[in-house]
Order: sequence, then C-alpha cells, then structure tokens
Amino acid sequence: MLSGSLASAGPESKRRRALPLPKGMVPMQTFTPDSSMVSDVIPSPNHGERNKARRPDMIVLHYTGMPDVEGALTRLCKAGTEVSAHYVVLEDGRILQCVPESKRAWHAGVACWAGEEDINSCSIGIEIVNRGHDWGYPDFPLRQIAAVIALCRGIILRREVPPHRVVGHSDVAPARKKDPGEKFPWRSLAASGVGLWVEPARIVPGPALKQGAEGDDVRLMQQALADYGYRVPVNGSYDHATTDVVTAFQRHFRPDKVDGIADASTLATLHALLARLPIEARAVAALG
Ligand SMILES: [Zn+2]
Repeated sequence: MLSGSLASAGPESKRRRALPLPKGMVPMQTFTPDSSMVSDVIPSPNHGERNKARRPDMIVLHYTGMPDVEGALTRLCKAGTEVSAHYVVLEDGRILQCVPESKRAWHAGVACWAGEEDINSCSIGIEIVNRGHDWGYPDFPLRQIAAVIALCRGIILRREVPPHRVVGHSDVAPARKKDPGEKFPWRSLAASGVGLWVEPARIVPGPALKQGAEGDDVRLMQQALADYGYRVPVNGSYDHATTDVVTAFQRHFRPDKVDGIADASTLATLHALLARLPIEARAVAALG
C-alpha cells in the first residue's frame, strides 16, 4: 500500500536486515559496483582475467542450490573454493556483487554454448539464492525475480547481450546441471525484455521421439537444438547426451513437462523458438 510504505520508509531503511556474511572471511580490497542496482560489494578472490580479453556478451543464470545463504556466500567468496559469480541476488531482492564484470568469474565449469567452450570468459554469472532441487526447490519470490530482471536489463544494455544469449546453467551444461530449473519464470523475464521466449506449444497425446530412437527425425531435432546453441551430437541417434539436452531445453522452454522425451509440443516449441533467432546467430551456431 502506497501510504503505508511511504510512512515507513525512514525507519524501515534503518532496520534493514544485516547481510548474512560468512564468518572468518578475509577482508579484501573492494571495488565500485558495475550496476547501480547493487546494494553491497562482497569481493571474492575467485576470479581471473577473461581469455583474450573477451568482452562478455552472454548472461548465465544459476541458483545457489544450498540450504542457507551464508553457506552459499562462503562458497562463492572464500579463497580456495574455486567458485564465484559476478552477482548474487538474495531472496529479498538485494543484489550483491562479488566479482567486477571486467574479470572472469568461475561459475559455469565445463560448459558450451554456440560452439564456445570458455563460457566463463564470455559471460556474466548471476547466482540466484534458492535451495534448489536437492533441498525442496521453493518458488522464486517475485521481489527476487524483479531484482534479477532489473539487474539483467542493465547488463543487457551496457554489454549488448542479445536475447538468445541469456541462458541457464543447465542450458550450457545439460549433463551436469539443473539450475535455475523449471520453476524459474523465464516467461516473466522475457515479458520484461530479458531473454528469448515463445509460448510453449500445448501438450497433447501422440507419437514422440525418445531415447533409443534412430533416424532422420532425430537428426533434424538434434540439428535444431544445435542451431539454437546447445551442444548435442548430430548423429541421428537419440542417445543419453541427446536426452540430457532435450531435458535442458524443456526445463527452460517447456517447463510443464520435463521428461527428456521429444513430444510434438517440445518439437513445435523448439521450431517456433528457432524462427525467432536472428539469422546471423544461426550461422554462428552452425559453425560451432
Ligand atoms: Zn549453476
């Protein structure tokens, strides 16, 4: 309510909850945040230089996947863990920055997108605080999603990130990762100008491709996934790797049913999405 929030603005700001800072962290030199949305800088030593001074033109979204935020911040900001991200978005919408955007944060691990394997060098990594699939996988609060959107919009503007290069960790590492997962509201992000999205085609009973299938239909589907950016064998065999990629595609673009089976809805959604991809992006993906 407007009157209420205005009335409480002063005292509220003084009562701001303390940051859940990890204990025993060595203080480091701080830096000026890249985004005006950042409320606090918590420098992480876990970063390096971007390979060949690559300018980032991609955003990778993650969830922290840990039972509490203190543990997640310790992992991201303590020396020796070899893990970090540029930003952390708390459940209450506060945004922390841990690594300057000019540096290479260590968030993607072994990954690939559109033929490029050093995803950490070409991307900005955002960790969204959520316990994840192993710890009950709660819904993402709207306040947190609004903060993710605002942060991404700034990065997209400053770094010229094209819509199809805003992806999830599971998109770039389908065999290893599920985050940010099927509950992540990609539709809402796209409605606010973040990421590429088409309405998923309706799920109806009917024939489907699944693991073990062979032939040109499988090859065409693999080619379409590869054209979008996924690393997938284009060999006409619906193998384990193909199932992982179809699962990742569904988690992002057809989240109502994530089963690794390419039903008519999955294929129609994939082709509708490809039709929205800029021609030059398709050419790059094909080269990869
Ligand atoms: Zn991740």
